[in-house]
Amino acid sequence: MSRRSHPIQFSLKWRFTIGLAALLLLTISALGWLVLREIKLDQQQKVETDLKQRSELASLRVRQIYLSGSALDDVPTFLRRRGTELAADLSALLNGTHVMLYDSNGKEIGNSMPLSGSADVKDIMVYAKQGKIVYEQSGDSLIYLAPIIWSVGQVGIVQLQLSLKADQAFYSSIALSLRNIGLAALAVSFLLGFIYVQRVTSALRKLRAAADQIRAGHYIGQSPIRRRDELGELSEGITYMSREIEQSLARQKQFIGSVSHEFKTPLTSIIAYSDLLDMYRDDPKLLDEAIVNIRQEADRLLEMVVKVLHLSEMEQYEFSLHAENLDVQESLNAVCSRLRGKAAQFNISIETDLEAAMIRADRESFMHIFLNLLDNAIKYNVPGGSIHIKCRADSNKAVIVIRDTGIGIPEEARAKLFEPFYTVSKDRARLSGGTGLGLSLVKRLVELQQGTVVYSEPPSAAQGSQFTVTFPLLSKKNLQA
Ligand code: ADP
Repeated sequence: MSRRSHPIQFSLKWRFTIGLAALLLLTISALGWLVLREIKLDQQQKVETDLKQRSELASLRVRQIYLSGSALDDVPTFLRRRGTELAADLSALLNGTHVMLYDSNGKEIGNSMPLSGSADVKDIMVYAKQGKIVYEQSGDSLIYLAPIIWSVGQVGIVQLQLSLKADQAFYSSIALSLRNIGLAALAVSFLLGFIYVQRVTSALRKLRAAADQIRAGHYIGQSPIRRRDELGELSEGITYMSREIEQSLARQKQFIGSVSHEFKTPLTSIIAYSDLLDMYRDDPKLLDEAIVNIRQEADRLLEMVVKVLHLSEMEQYEFSLHAENLDVQESLNAVCSRLRGKAAQFNISIETDLEAAMIRADRESFMHIFLNLLDNAIKYNVPGGSIHIKCRADSNKAVIVIRDTGIGIPEEARAKLFEPFYTVSKDRARLSGGTGLGLSLVKRLVELQQGTVVYSEPPSAAQGSQFTVTFPLLSKKNLQA
């Protein structure tokens, strides 16, 4: 089955980089546009206020000159006669602004710069004659018309022409700077973004390569990338997963190896007996021996098959637990009564000292655990020996101790006791019909109930073995439920 079917058409790197560039461009353009618009509005406002003040000043000046004269002429005549002179005077007053004067009908009566020609203002003059302030832009200058209004009414119109060159130059230089800064910022952030994304995608590629490697069965021992972010965590996770898979595979291989090996011995023995029986068909002694031995080996095989199946069920999570509120005292008594007969056969007594304790566990698993432990305590006991089972309720757990007066377990064997197929010595396993699977089953079952099981040293004077099992006690809350 092929896992990857589509080649990557548009890599993350390019999506990210192009997206980032578009976003930056948009931001910079919007900012630039806003700044330039503000500048333009500001300039316009300044020019307007400036021209308004100048036109008012001009109007006042004309009135002052008229009044300070002999005032022989009427106003229109005064303006017509002295228009050119007035325009020059106003221009001087207004720092050399180009000033033109018109009478109330819009006819030119004075021009401070007669040689420079005059712009065509016919369109806006209409409004100026109606007493309104109007202006228009022509090329790089602004033409501003303001009525001269006295108490007698509108007597004329003053036209101011202002060069906008300086403002325009300022505006263009700002626009240019903004563009340059914007482009530089764009380039730098694009580059940085690209480098960053490049590094992220390279990390992702490494992770993918690692995943491919694991898929092909080459497990990795070291994290393919080292980063202190989510990618680093992902990498650690993948490495951990790889190690777990490798270990679990190794365990499985070892288990299968042991199973095949352990199955071989009883089968070889059975085959050997059938060969012997074939050769010595009428040896009654051999027949008796064969019946006993074949039965024993077959029993051992059957027990092994049952336990291996049980163990593998648990490995494969098909194992279902039906947790229920369990009375430890009652359940242990049930286990004991099941094994009392077998113990009596070997002249072994079972003594109990059980405090009341409630736990939450699967009943069948619980029985299995203690049947196995008790069975061992009988199997590896001595004739006339005894077994003590004690249960007490600790602050938050039930502690169950099983002690026997049997042959004990040598110190060097204790570490491996719970491994599948481990037997302290083949001989004693053979004698007792052991498979070496009992304790590994016990451990798995106990752990599935959130419990612990350990081999614990028996009191110094006593000989034998002692196992301690604990389970979390049922909390008060659950007890009422
Ligand atoms: P088995 O089926 O062989 O009993 P177990 O996994 O139950 O397998 O036990 C593993 C080994 O631990 C046994 O072979 C036995 O030698 C030793 N053992 C277990 N329980 C006891 C005990 N109560 N006393 C002495 N030896 C024990």
